[in-house]
Amino acid sequence: GPLDPTATFYVAGHTGLVGSAVARHLRDRGHTHVVGRSSAELDLRDREATFDFFAETRPRYVVVAAARVGGILANARHPVGFLSDNLRIQTNVLDAALEHRVERLLFLGSSCIYPKHAAQPIVEEALLTGPLEPTNDAYAIAKIAGIHQVQAVRREFGLPWIAAMPTNLYGPGDNFSPTTSHVLPAMIRRFDDAVTHASDHVVNWGTGTPRREFLHVDDLADACVLLLESYDADQHINVGWGQDVSIRQLSQMVADVVGYEGGVEWDTSRPDGTPRKVLDVTRLSTLGWRPRIPLEAGLRSTYAWYRDHAGAPR
Ligand code: GDP
Repeated sequence: GPLDPTATFYVAGHTGLVGSAVARHLRDRGHTHVVGRSSAELDLRDREATFDFFAETRPRYVVVAAARVGGILANARHPVGFLSDNLRIQTNVLDAALEHRVERLLFLGSSCIYPKHAAQPIVEEALLTGPLEPTNDAYAIAKIAGIHQVQAVRREFGLPWIAAMPTNLYGPGDNFSPTTSHVLPAMIRRFDDAVTHASDHVVNWGTGTPRREFLHVDDLADACVLLLESYDADQHINVGWGQDVSIRQLSQMVADVVGYEGGVEWDTSRPDGTPRKVLDVTRLSTLGWRPRIPLEAGLRSTYAWYRDHAGAPR
């Protein structure tokens, strides 16, 4: 059913790529009490601080978009942090939400929860049917635990909480750091730097043959609200396009948007990660939802955001 726009709505992770889009979207739709705390204000790894925050704020609805996230390299280099921080963040938030009997809660995971060699496009039922991709298995295990915690709360306490698994996301507010970012913002920055420095030489990671699906966060935010209003099932639900591009194609698209005309090389000593990761979105489309922002348009607006906020002066 519909959400009460005057109820307190906590967006955990509201300064991040996903959380900021969700908070923006809720405010645009007339929600007057969207609350958030930056990690400097509230460290969700701190259980007592998290419980204190819930006791003070008493949210009626919660979206869990708080997580320690990063690209393939950060995940592969720091599995301990990705496992431990994410388990603590989500356990604290979900436990506090349970103590306060939060009415509706959406837990967000990631498409990396699925087995490395899952049949494509990946259906929700593929979860836990095979071994994970090793470059991000720590993050994936944490997210799988979160899905199970949501299901356990449904079973044991009867609360209509849900979990959604978005595909690779991008948009304004993304992390553009060369070492910890995901591929799309990494390429925006790399090609933009090349244009800025009049360089005709860029080096991307891996072979360029893996395929990935990219969803704009504004589309995800829209899907999140729809799911909170109208999805109530034990199983998690995929959120994506159902279509993907090769990393090489993505590189060409980013070069075109940025206006880079030089050469592109591939550093094959960098990991490729999982060969393909495209979600089956049948379940979501039967709810009548489809994404609106094509990759090309999303790349253009994200690049414009980058130039306004993070790009080097030219
Ligand atoms: P993944 O979807 O979890 O593998 O995460 P990423 O977005 O980090 O990487 C996706 C694919 O893009 C992998 O095959 C990477 O090797 C490739 N890639 C190419 N250039 C880059 C780059 O500069 N940064 C990142 N993170 N990935 C890159």
